[in-house]
Amino acid sequence: MARDAAGRPDDGNAFTHFFDRVDRALSPVFESPPGPQNEGPQQPPSADAACPVCGHPMFEHRFDNDAGNVILICPTADRLPERNESTPFNELGMPADERRLEKIRERELHAK
Ligand SMILES: [Zn+2]
Repeated sequence: MARDAAGRPDDGNAFTHFFDRVDRALSPVFESPPGPQNEGPQQPPSADAACPVCGHPMFEHRFDNDAGNVILICPTADRLPERNESTPFNELGMPADERRLEKIRERELHAK
């Protein structure tokens, strides 16, 4: 293309440089986040894992799916104490990650 030839021959031109810069700026957004690779789908808890509701091993539990929903039936009426979620939440209502907590601390410092 004539327009490509007008720029620096090996280096691209202002047009391609612009899109190279856009590519570099946006690639972190579209690349997969760092984390464990090749992990596959999440595995169900093993039979001796502790129940998050009562703390008993999972093999002591029954599952009732008569009503269309699978209901976990614990072997005891005892329940683990609820976790105290006093940390800030992210935009999805989940406990905020460390990066967001850092931003919140910075914002509080500037507000004073
Ligand atoms: Zn349980």
